[in-house]
Amino acid sequence: MDLIGGQMAIKENVKTLLEELPDGVELVGAAKGRTAREIKEAIDAGLKIVGENYIQETMLAQKSMNEDVGWHFIGHLQRNKVKKAVEVFDMIESLDSLRLAEEIDKRCREIGKVMPVLVEVNSGREEQKFGVLPEDVEELVKEVSSLPNIKIMGLMTMGPRFGNPEDSRPYFQETRKIFGRLKQLDLPDVEMRYLSMGMTNSYRIALEEGANMVRIGTKIFGERR
Ligand SMILES: *Cc1c(COP(=O)(O)O)cnc(C)c1O
Repeated sequence: MDLIGGQMAIKENVKTLLEELPDGVELVGAAKGRTAREIKEAIDAGLKIVGENYIQETMLAQKSMNEDVGWHFIGHLQRNKVKKAVEVFDMIESLDSLRLAEEIDKRCREIGKVMPVLVEVNSGREEQKFGVLPEDVEELVKEVSSLPNIKIMGLMTMGPRFGNPEDSRPYFQETRKIFGRLKQLDLPDVEMRYLSMGMTNSYRIALEEGANMVRIGTKIFGERR
């Protein structure tokens, strides 16, 4: 794939996706490993939210553009990286422990910011995966809700990786159930607005199961190098 062709493809891919996604669904362009130039192409085509897994890479991309987009952290956040992360990101989609929440709260207080977060659910109960087990989500949400410089805005899940996206459905359904229950509880200082589920091979299933935020990399930027 030559450079010009590749960049045109990125624009086309974003436009096609934005046309396909129903109203009210947010597209997060999962940009790990992509250059600032590639990210800029996607933004020029209408992408409003960039999802990043690495802080260094994000800072580099941000330095070379001043586009008015949201930057979401979607990777695994280590506590020693939180200070930088809260400066760089507009949302953290991968909150998975009280200890991490307390660090985010503390660092946000220092810079006078309230960080919107999604709680990451380990819906596949996979040992090697990050996220909170489904049965522990409610307790974590309640604990975190009392921290003044963090605002819980919903849930995120990856689910196990399958060749057949249909196999992801039960994990999306379970996460949706938790989302609905928490919404009903109507906890103080908790807003169950975003349900972030679905990637390139599974986003259509996720949409059927109630996702209103999808994180898509390959279908925008091509196969990762
Ligand atoms: C890379 C990544 C995605 C996107 O994956 P694709 O299969 O390339 O669409 C979504 N969510 C997270 C957390 C990721 O790390």
